Amino acid sequence: MSPFRNPDLHCHSTRSDGFLTPRAVVERAVANGVDLLALTDHDELGGIDEALAAAEGSGLKLLPGVEISVSFVGETIHVVGLDIDHREPTLVTALSQLRAGRAERAVRIGDELARRGIRGALAGARALAPNPELVSRAHFARFIVSTGLMPDVKTVFDHYLATGKPGYVVHQWAELEAAVGWIRGAGGLPVLAHPARYRLSSAQMENLLDRFQAAGGEGIEVVGGAHTPEEMMRFAQVARRRGLLASRASDFHGVEEIRVDLGGCNPLPQDLVPVWSRFCARAQVR
Ligand code: AMP
Ligand code: MN
Ligand code: MN
Ligand code: MN
Repeated sequence: MSPFRNPDLHCHSTRSDGFLTPRAVVERAVANGVDLLALTDHDELGGIDEALAAAEGSGLKLLPGVEISVSFVGETIHVVGLDIDHREPTLVTALSQLRAGRAERAVRIGDELARRGIRGALAGARALAPNPELVSRAHFARFIVSTGLMPDVKTVFDHYLATGKPGYVVHQWAELEAAVGWIRGAGGLPVLAHPARYRLSSAQMENLLDRFQAAGGEGIEVVGGAHTPEEMMRFAQVARRRGLLASRASDFHGVEEIRVDLGGCNPLPQDLVPVWSRFCARAQVR
């Protein structure tokens, strides 16, 4: 039996596009009754030490994690790594290179928005990004909202920043097999993040899952802030059919852009094998 009653295995801090510091994320999770938390900033491990320190003595077990940006048939896919060694050199170097590419992409997004009449977006997004190496489209969206041009972040994505929109720029992120390999090389468990969010045909989704599992991917987010109940049922079925471990993931960024609070996800369907069964087994062996 799992000793964990309220796991939440995907969230963000100010080290990427979250609104709370790593310490504040852990404190909010503890207050919400989370007992197993993974901090999974985009392409970044810089918040892990602070989160580990904050979790010490709190009763919450903190898993070092990451959410890696991957390019797959022209779509951006996110692969979460759980329980990684956040000092493993190959992973650390690879993420540093992804962040360098991200900085170059930010310049191109700024140029593209300027061509559409939105000036100062690069400077505006940078000013809203606490980590200079991690300017996300979310920071561009928040800047555009702050100018009064658009009412909320979702509207900005719908008009400018989502795939194929006028401010969108094509970017080459990591290869799927490489990202899964870095996570495994750092002792971690690779989980496919929010599968319902990708614009893929059924055949492309099957191909993604084939390649993910062949590379050593083991888990899939089933219950979470990004999934409707129908999407949850669809991917619960995928987990059963493919023998994937199931994850529960708020993808919390802050109350400013909340879908589900830390620890606020529904329970997993009872018959699925949770990813955290793996962490219990490891704990028992030690
Ligand atoms: P990036 O990794 O810089 O391409 O930015 C992706 C981030 O933008 C996601 O992790 C979300 O935080 C945010 N995002 C993406 N799509 C949307 C959307 N439709 N509405 C609100 N936020 C979004
Ligand atoms: Mn994000
Ligand atoms: Mn994501
Ligand atoms: Mn996320």
